[in-house]
Amino acid sequence: DRIPLKRALISVSDKTGLLDFARTLSARGVEILSTGGTAKALREAGLTVKDVAEVTGFPEMMDGRVKTLHPVVHGGLLALRDNDEHMAAANAHGIGMIDLLVVNLYPFEATVAKGADYDDCIENIDIGGPAMIRAASKNHAFVTVVVDVQDYAAVLAELDANDDTTGFAFRQRQAQIAYARTAAYDAAVSTWMAAQIGEEAPRRRAFAGELAQTLRYGENPHQSAAFYRDGSDRAGVATAKQWQGKELSYNNINDTDAAFELVAEFDPAQGPAVAIIKHANPCGVARGDSAADAYRRAFDCDRTSAFGGIIALNTTLDGETARAITEIFTEVVIAPEATDEAREIFAGKKNLRLLTTGGLPDPKAPGLTFRQVAGGFLVQGRDNGVILPADLKVVTQRQPSEAELQDLLFAWTVAKHVKSNAIVYAKDLATVGIGAGQMSRVDSTRIGKRKSEDMAEALGLSQALTIGSSVSSDAFFPFADGIEALAEAGAKAVIQPGGSMRDAEVIAAADRLGLAMVFTGQRHFRH
Ligand code: 5GP
Repeated sequence: DRIPLKRALISVSDKTGLLDFARTLSARGVEILSTGGTAKALREAGLTVKDVAEVTGFPEMMDGRVKTLHPVVHGGLLALRDNDEHMAAANAHGIGMIDLLVVNLYPFEATVAKGADYDDCIENIDIGGPAMIRAASKNHAFVTVVVDVQDYAAVLAELDANDDTTGFAFRQRQAQIAYARTAAYDAAVSTWMAAQIGEEAPRRRAFAGELAQTLRYGENPHQSAAFYRDGSDRAGVATAKQWQGKELSYNNINDTDAAFELVAEFDPAQGPAVAIIKHANPCGVARGDSAADAYRRAFDCDRTSAFGGIIALNTTLDGETARAITEIFTEVVIAPEATDEAREIFAGKKNLRLLTTGGLPDPKAPGLTFRQVAGGFLVQGRDNGVILPADLKVVTQRQPSEAELQDLLFAWTVAKHVKSNAIVYAKDLATVGIGAGQMSRVDSTRIGKRKSEDMAEALGLSQALTIGSSVSSDAFFPFADGIEALAEAGAKAVIQPGGSMRDAEVIAAADRLGLAMVFTGQRHFRH
């Protein structure tokens, strides 16, 4: 299965590393065919190159749309060398074999990313490149394909180790990489077109992704895992700069995303906010007069759980906040920016990862979320619902006070990011009790209360902070018992979607217990 490389076709848009690679191939006696721009670059560097146009007998035409689409090229890539009929056909038509194909595609993704207009994007859809890549990959029994400038070194290493030949395993691996590239390329085109059409969750969709990092393992050590970027410029863990600390793990990435998406709900123009996340659920969220104040108030919601947590800020991480954070062990801190002082303070904590994103993601932006099920996957628009004061309907005799209203909206926003069934108690724009991920809403209510009592005890307070709190439920109360449990916890105001068959009973219970209650008309399940 050892195949010597006699003839190569090189046609690359990204010319990084091209000259050194081509020079080495030339020096090893490989004949080089090339398309316009690539041939020019090679000739200018003093290399001997044959134009594809000379081989096909056709000039490159139609703005380069037709360069290599010719039987002389595709026959040379696809012919089975051990098949007499194939070789006879090649001889009859003057088709020379191509043993190595080096192609990287028109930069479609980069063209879209820089905001180019429709026609420019269309012109940057490569046609001949993917056709050649797919042909060469299909024929990996004989042909070596390279689609990534990062792989030039691997080709040379393979030649070095095998007397200037490539082995089957190597060619097969390169073909697998090549098909991943053409698949992602077409997926990027399809994704872009869906956006042009204005479909948020198109009925038919291919998925584009670029490998960002092979992870040590997945959610558990026996699971393999990788991290892909989808090419979007949404500020967050996939686009952030990591300043220090070891590589993020699968769980770190998941939790960091949850933390940053949550804190981005709080407009920094209205003051700092901090979220602390454990296992994708918040264990404390608060606004504050300063970032450090917000951090301390978030921390005081559940100090026990905050240990080893992930912290997100909606504002610049400053020295005072950094110092407060280093008082306990934290896995990751993510913020739009960090001051030099904050970075210096963190520099002493080698295991702490610091990420900065340059900005905040827009909570109202459209987008898609995916979930795998056996044999398929579910796709939905991201939960970008935002409730404003004007959307609220007061359903009880008692109106919430202005302060309660602020806390209700705050709790509602946090509950959107808590696994269902979610109950969030808040006071003075800080969470004081969170019940997450329970199968019964009443249980979430009780857990939030109990955690608040534990915290009050640890802080030496005489009573749980849920007393006098405002509370949010991510979905409606099916029965009055949930409301009774909230009243037992000392809550004074409730926010929930409404819409239960028993809303009348639930409202009557709230009235009887002296609670103010508002309906949002919108639900935030998160499973
Ligand atoms: P060059 O810079 O050499 O003129 O062009 C290289 C680019 O042309 C590569 O990205 C390659 O994938 C692309 N290419 C090669 N053949 C064809 C073709 O027949 N049609 C189109 N549209 N692109 C091609």
